[in-house]
Amino acid sequence: MASPGEECSPDTFAFMELAIQQAKLALDSLEVPVGCVIVEDGKVIASGRNQTTETRNATRHAEMEAIDVLLEGWQRNGLSKLEVAKKISKCYLYVTCEPCIMCAAALSILGIKEVFYGCANDKFGGCGSILSLNLGRSEPCESGAVPQGKGFKCNGGIMASEAVSLLRTFYEQGNPNAPKPHRPLAHQATR
Ligand SMILES: [Zn+2]
Repeated sequence: MASPGEECSPDTFAFMELAIQQAKLALDSLEVPVGCVIVEDGKVIASGRNQTTETRNATRHAEMEAIDVLLEGWQRNGLSKLEVAKKISKCYLYVTCEPCIMCAAALSILGIKEVFYGCANDKFGGCGSILSLNLGRSEPCESGAVPQGKGFKCNGGIMASEAVSLLRTFYEQGNPNAPKPHRPLAHQATR
């Protein structure tokens, strides 16, 4: 993982700040606070936050929400598959927590250019913590096979403490959806 801060421009922090705002919106809605923005040509073109509780759908992660906003918009504008692929290959994603295996695979198959994330995802991380889907696959793809991810550049640890502090707040206040009785972070809060 690249060490944070060194090659990060002020823009990186500004966009991550917007992702954190999305995570705060999730927290306000009693969702696990993870948020993201997608940037093209220096402009935010989509944003998303975790919505797994509201939608009762465990796959509605922040990244999926933002990707759907983008793809639906581009589809409405009549973009061809090739045009969509070309556009997404110029997009950057800023997300407060390392994309999980599902999201990292989706981002890799879509061919996003680069991902910046805050804290690591020790349980489900798909960008180095558990799997490294960002590295893509080098083997050639047989016709009819499952699409292989192209991979993407990945930078972790950007404003990680802010991202962690939001998650901690969430788990300390008690996750109404958490399986009981095991709540390790809530236990720490009683110190
Ligand atoms: Zn995910």
